[in-house]
Amino acid sequence: MAFSNRIKLIKPSSTMALTSKANEMRLQGEDVLVLTVGEPDFDTPQYIKDAAKKAIDSGATKYTSVDGTPELKEAIINKFKNENELSFEPNEIIVSAGCKQSIFNMLQVLIDDGDEVVIPQPYWVSYADMVVYAGGKPIMLKTTYENNFNISISQLKECLSDKTKLLMINSPNNPSGKYFDSKTLSNISEVLLSTENIYISSDDIYEHIHWHNEKFHNILNVSPDLKERAIILNGVSKAYSMTGWRIGYAAGNSEIIKKMKTLQSQSTSCASSISQAAACAALSSECKELPNMRAEYKKRHDFVVKQLNQIKGVLCKETDGTFYVFPSFKEYIQNSELSNDNDLAMKLLNEAKVAVVPGSAFGMNGHVRLSIAIDMKSLENAMTRIKSVLS
Ligand code: GLU
Repeated sequence: MAFSNRIKLIKPSSTMALTSKANEMRLQGEDVLVLTVGEPDFDTPQYIKDAAKKAIDSGATKYTSVDGTPELKEAIINKFKNENELSFEPNEIIVSAGCKQSIFNMLQVLIDDGDEVVIPQPYWVSYADMVVYAGGKPIMLKTTYENNFNISISQLKECLSDKTKLLMINSPNNPSGKYFDSKTLSNISEVLLSTENIYISSDDIYEHIHWHNEKFHNILNVSPDLKERAIILNGVSKAYSMTGWRIGYAAGNSEIIKKMKTLQSQSTSCASSISQAAACAALSSECKELPNMRAEYKKRHDFVVKQLNQIKGVLCKETDGTFYVFPSFKEYIQNSELSNDNDLAMKLLNEAKVAVVPGSAFGMNGHVRLSIAIDMKSLENAMTRIKSVLS
């Protein structure tokens, strides 16, 4: 097959691939516990589903504007105003089929062949491949477990060159659960403001799954001067348990948004009209379920962190948010017959029947990512199995 050179450069998303593999095993009758994908196990709240049903019944079943319905864009603008104290105009907002599509489109619009994109490592699985697909070069800003996944500002400076186009921040971070607090963000913005044309993207998708003692801040909260260079990325999937509805959005410089709109007009046209109506409801009323979901994630987090730390050779930090934990198995692997985190993930899948994602998918060998967006009973079961296979 004569495929494009571009597609040969990237691999399937590990989170998606491992989840399909685990689900296939389940279909074949194997009792696999799936801790791979970051997908809330809670049902979408009823008021959101009702809004979708209403949209169907009232005939809101056609194409919408490429950048989203006026109602949803207004709801997003109000969300930014009320929750983030940020103000945006309608031409600074675009709705996409998931935060993932907004990230992809942003990169296609900004990145040229050879442009460098700085990404704190560990990073969400698709960041590096999306950059490569856009023709860019990912430059890894390494963080370490030992240093609590903190970004070192001197290292950030070393990552910058005259080819740097963009810095991609994701906080709270998938997979480490690290929240970059306002002090860190202000140090980052100081570096960016000392340059002229480096853009910054802030992936805020885990904004509401956050238990750090500081209220959630993104880079624009601490540095409004970056407004022309910042792209805020978010969506309803994680907070409102709406992964399948596929609604995300981007907010930023109207010129960038306009180009993302051009790209979207030539690719997917618009996000689903019905899902947009549902997302509008999600953002427009108080979601009573949200605090309960967050409290439940925190309870699961506390349990899993404690359990994992009981295994010899395993270290698991408490996170600041998200529904992942990202323990280090380095010592365990060193003292075993395993060569790396991929072997470990295979062992857990084959022997414990627990599916997890190897840390190397996120750029950090020796770790694995466990999603805790699964009910407590399954999680207890998963911990019992992991402990028994690894002891
Ligand atoms: N963001 C989720 C994860 O990391 C969803 C899967 C994906 O799109 O990669 O598991």
